[in-house]
Order: sequence, then C-alpha cells, then structure tokens
Amino acid sequence: MAATEAGGRAAPVNASANAGPGMGTGSRKAFYQFGYARAADQDAFAATGKPPRHPIVVVGAGPVGMTVAIDLAMRGNEVVILDDADRIGEGSRAICFFQRTLEIWDRLGVGKPMVDKGITWQVGKDFLRDDLVYQFDLLPEDGHKMPAFINLQQYYAELYLVERIVELPRIDLRWRNKVSAIDSHADGVRLTIETPDGPYEIEADWLIACDGAKSPLRAMMDLEFKGEVFDDRFLIADVKMTADFPVERWFWFDPPFHAGQSALLQKQPDDIWRIDLQLGPEADPETEQKLENVVPRIEWMLGHSNFELKWVSLYSFQCRRIDRFVHDRVVFCGDSAHEISPFGARGANSGVQDAENLAWKLDFILKGEADTSLMATYDAERSDAADENIGHSTRSTDFIAPKTEMERTLRNAVLHLAARTEFARAMVNSGRLSQSVTYATDFSTPDTEAFSGSAKLGAPVPDATLRTAEGRET
Ligand SMILES: Cc1cc2nc3c(=O)[nH]c(=O)nc-3n(C[C@H](O)[C@H](O)[C@H](O)COP(=O)(O)OP(=O)(O)OC[C@H]3O[C@@H](n4cnc5c(N)ncnc54)[C@H](O)[C@@H]3O)c2cc1C
Repeated sequence: MAATEAGGRAAPVNASANAGPGMGTGSRKAFYQFGYARAADQDAFAATGKPPRHPIVVVGAGPVGMTVAIDLAMRGNEVVILDDADRIGEGSRAICFFQRTLEIWDRLGVGKPMVDKGITWQVGKDFLRDDLVYQFDLLPEDGHKMPAFINLQQYYAELYLVERIVELPRIDLRWRNKVSAIDSHADGVRLTIETPDGPYEIEADWLIACDGAKSPLRAMMDLEFKGEVFDDRFLIADVKMTADFPVERWFWFDPPFHAGQSALLQKQPDDIWRIDLQLGPEADPETEQKLENVVPRIEWMLGHSNFELKWVSLYSFQCRRIDRFVHDRVVFCGDSAHEISPFGARGANSGVQDAENLAWKLDFILKGEADTSLMATYDAERSDAADENIGHSTRSTDFIAPKTEMERTLRNAVLHLAARTEFARAMVNSGRLSQSVTYATDFSTPDTEAFSGSAKLGAPVPDATLRTAEGRET
C-alpha cells in the first residue's frame, strides 16, 4: 500500500511533472545571491591600522543571527552582521516553525510574510504500518493570533529576515565577510575578517556568535561541544507534486512501503512535500543519494511517479551543547550553542527564543539599565532550555531509531499496545514538537510571593487579563 492511502486516504490528484533523469542531487541553485560590498571599516583600517569599534557584532546571518540583530536594532542599537557566504537557500533544512517563534517574528515585523507563505497545520498522525496509533492537535482552542505551526522552507524564512534587515538602517549586513580569528578579552573582542578585498579588523564591545553548529568561533575559543552523536541515517527528499490529502504531519513506523524503518511526510509551500526516510546506520551516503536508488523508494511510497525531485540529501544527527553560553563578551546563540536532532523541530525554534532572551538583556546592559551580571541569566535560562530541548529530542530519536534489540522490542510493544489501548498512545514518540520552554523559579528568593500560584516563567498564559495604556482591563 502506498503512503498516500494510509488511514484510508485517497491517492493524490493533479500530479505534476515526472521525476526527471539527469537531475543532480543536492543541486538546488542558490535561491538568492546578495553579493559583496566593501565596507567603510575596510578603508578606515587600511588607512589607520586601527580596528573600528562597534557596540554589537553578530557573526552568522542564519535565522538566529538575523533575529537577534533585528531585535537589537529595533531597540535602537547599531548592529554589524558578518556572514561568510553571500546567499541563502542551499539545502533542505528547517521547515516547521512553531507559534512562539512566529509571535517573536511578528513583534519584529516579519511574522506576516512567514504566515502568509507558510502552510498552517496543527494535526499530526502516527501510523504503525497502516494503523493509526496516535494523533495530536497542537492548538485545540481558537483565538490565537499565530497558528500552532507553519511549514515553511528555511530559505524563505531567511529571505524574509533579510528583507526586514534591509528596512532597518541600524543594521549593517556584510556578506562574504568571514571571521578567521578572534581575540577575546574582558571588555571586548577583536575580530579578523577575510573578504574578497583581503583581510581587515574590527573590534566589538559584544560579539554574538550565531555561526551555526560547526561554529568556527567556538573552535577558535577551544570550547567543547559535548553530547550524543546518533548512528542512524535519514534520507531527505523534497518532491514537487500536487496532492489533495489533508495538511497534516504523517509519521509511519514500519510502513508497508519501507519495511522495518520509519517515514515522515509533510507539506511545504509551492506544492513541495518533504519526505524523510530512515535508512539505518549502515546506509552509504553516496549510493543512497543516487537517483536510481532514490526515485524507486519515493515511487513506492507515493504509489505513483508523478512528482519532480527537487532536493535529496542524507543526514545523521547529534544532540550537543556548549558548557557555558557566555564567555566574557562573546555570547553563543542558536546552533553554535546547542545542536538538536530535527525530531521535534526544536533547532531554529529554540535559537529564535535564545535570540529573544538575549536581545532585551543586552539592550538593557548597553543602555546602562542593567549591569553585565544580567548576562548570567541568559546563560542559565537558555542552558536550561537547551537541556530540555535536547532531552525531548534524544527521547524521540531513541524511540524512532532504537539502538539495541531490547529498546526495539520495548518500542514495538508500545506501538502495538497503542493501536489498542489509550494509555500506551501517549508513549508513542515520533517527535515531541517544539513548545515554549519554561524556566525554573527559585522560590527561595524574595520574589516568592510574586510567583506563587502563577504560571511558570516563560509559559504562555492564554487567559491572563491585560491592562491597556488607558488602564482598561481586557
Ligand atoms: C534536516 C534538518 C531539518 C531541520 N528541521 C528543523 C525544523 O523543522 N525546525 C527547526 O526549528 N529547526 C530545524 N532544523 C535545525 C535548523 O536548521 C537550525 O537549528 C538553524 O539553521 C540554526 O540557525 P543558526 O542561525 O543558529 O545557524 P545557521 O543557520 O547554521 O547559520 C549560521 C551562519 O553562520 C555563517 N558562518 C559560519 N561560519 C562563519 C564565519 N567564520 N564567519 C562568518 N559567518 C559564518 C554561515 O554561513 C551561516 O549563514 C533542521 C535541521 C536539519 C539539518
């Protein structure tokens, strides 16, 4: 049976072009290319030999770096962002963005294009072979400004953030500016930057490292990135096809079209569907990405060949984090601070929450409304959040890809029970999707009264009464 028939669904209709022979894998062209422009700092450094100084330098124009830069600029700060590339749009990465991320982006003036373009969804279904074993609704009640989740290709999210940056004169975004060395000291950081015109140097009061999971800055500072590396490999295929099955997240354990493994199907904008197929630890990346191997797998899953293959890649995953997020004036944020396996969509989503947590604190410090000790709360809160996200993601990964026969036997027992009994359904774990992380409150502090009986810090409070500027309660 084909994937599209699971749960009694009809096969897709109006299918478009065929998978074309000759399509290279991993070959999507750069979606947008921005080019390099010489910065005034380069001339100033060449003329004087003295590195120009900036209050905030962000390294990395990924979703997290751009979010923190926009937030700081909208609070009135001048921000320089450096990125070693001059493009977005290579590869298939994040697609699921959750409500809290959308609320943050909405405050920053970029929520609407994300939601307008994204595919809104809230229902997920898990199948064991053909049987529905678990179903969830992420937003059972109405009245929220932002949806529970959207699916949106990361390259669109990055494009909308770049477009927002262009509207903000306080941000100086420099493409093809690769940071090759840093010298961090108690009250600032000196950076060496490689460009097509050669190297130059600048200084920063604060350096925000948003340079991704491989973080060259982390390596330059000789900081460890500790955690778990998983052996299993997954194939990602983005296929273009028109289909009228419901906009839901479908996950299969041991599906008939991919026996003994797992599979995931989700819709993205532009009639692109994301397919994830578990291949196991032995899969050879080169062989598995060959068209003659990929296309039949997808045909078997979909039950037809009316699709166009847009992207294929293989990934394995890690759950790791840095020990401390703040090192004097260098602050790690997003994937540079924590790498989270994709199950649960917690990578970019938690990075955007790091960015929000950091921006107002750094703004207070720069305006003299708080001293630098406030940064310790960023470290404490976002370290806790990283642990919580990594915990969820690790448990999901262990359930989806059991490492031992004993784990697999237990997992299969849960799945079989879940098909028949209510209590086992909650134990099915194909990814606990991203939620706002709540922070532990220290009730031994004088704030005890203020917090007693209230929601946990960081939790949404949907029924809370708000007072308007005129003093009216709503
Ligand atoms: C298959 C897959 C699926 C995923 N799905 C989801 C999902 O559904 N939801 C979700 O929330 N997350 C998901 N993620 C995770 C998400 O993609 C990452 O968490 C996110 O990209 C992290 O953003 P970032 O800005 O921290 O880092 P990045 O996006 O990695 O950006 C880092 C930037 O730093 C730049 N850079 C690096 N070194 C230098 C240097 N020396 N100088 C200057 N610039 C530099 C890079 O060019 C890059 O632009 C997924 C990841 C994968 C692999």
